Amino acid sequence: MRNLIIHILLLVIPFVTTNVAVAQNSASAESKRVVVIDPGHGGPRPGKVHRDLVEKDYVLAVSKEVRKQLNSRMPELDVYLTRSCDSAYHADRNKDNRLRAEFANKKGADLYVGIHANALENTSYKGCEVWVLTLNDNLMRQNKLVGSMYADEGDFIDPDDIDRNSQGFIMALSRQLENEPFSRFAAEECCKEMAKYGLKNLGVKVGTVFTVLYYSECPSIIVEMGYVTNKDDYAYLTSKNAKKEMATAITNAIVTYFTTLYGAVESSQEVTEESAEEAKSEEVKSAEGEILAEGYAIQLISSATEVDTSDYQFKEYKGRVRLIMGEGKYKYKYCYGSYKSTEDAAEDLGAVRKVFKDAYVVRYKDGAIVAK
Ligand SMILES: [Zn+2]
Repeated sequence: MRNLIIHILLLVIPFVTTNVAVAQNSASAESKRVVVIDPGHGGPRPGKVHRDLVEKDYVLAVSKEVRKQLNSRMPELDVYLTRSCDSAYHADRNKDNRLRAEFANKKGADLYVGIHANALENTSYKGCEVWVLTLNDNLMRQNKLVGSMYADEGDFIDPDDIDRNSQGFIMALSRQLENEPFSRFAAEECCKEMAKYGLKNLGVKVGTVFTVLYYSECPSIIVEMGYVTNKDDYAYLTSKNAKKEMATAITNAIVTYFTTLYGAVESSQEVTEESAEEAKSEEVKSAEGEILAEGYAIQLISSATEVDTSDYQFKEYKGRVRLIMGEGKYKYKYCYGSYKSTEDAAEDLGAVRKVFKDAYVVRYKDGAIVAK
């Protein structure tokens, strides 16, 4: 059965790729392009830590700088960050990764860029690399162990756990066949740009099935900006300008990606006071959808036991429901949105109550419900 499916897919690849090329180029000039930047980890999960370098903080700073540079260089591009604070999406690592991918899918992303730094026990490993998804059977099996060296459980999928006949896998495989050339292009550009700052270019990596790449519907890459455990990479990454330089490298790659695929969208305008003001308002707009470390949310339901956020009852809010822990018997609070004020939350409450009639606004901080 599996061989039959692979054969069918191989037969349709030429058509699929041709159609993709047309689809990617035929979008009208006025339709907005979207990039989602995902600073890895956050909240209870720091990522790699070496001396005073904490990955979750480092990648957040780089990601914010990427957004700032993109807003001024390509005002036509919509830039979203998955998080702008020290917060994770979900207590469960696998769900956390899926929600990041679903965030990109919901935003209609044309490109997903995860930003990370690497670490290994073997401190001689150094250099930058960028991961893309491949679901080639041999590559997945060869790299099974490599994945567990780099990443924690939940960050990647064990190829032995994948049911090759499942609809989910067939869909992921057909997306991968469509997206891989585009992902590779973005990845190669990124490696090339980062290497300009002296990092060894380890190139494009495939094989490990990163959860977030598996569930992203668009071309997607995971950028690893060097090994914090290596003394040369550590010295560079902690040098004064490194965060800004890494952000410039990633921005350059994204600009090249979009201008090559979709034509000249880069702004040639000089940055004037007026355009800086516009960029600022753009920044506020692109904050929409981010999860703030503290603020207000709309509680949809509460439960005495944990419920899957992809459960059917949440279908209208697919990918937008998150668990916030509360007190008492019904301590699992399933919430929507992240707002700075209770007034902002109240604006959405009417629409939410059409689906969840008992929904109300709650205040939260660092993943837990707090008193208003
Ligand atoms: Zn990481």
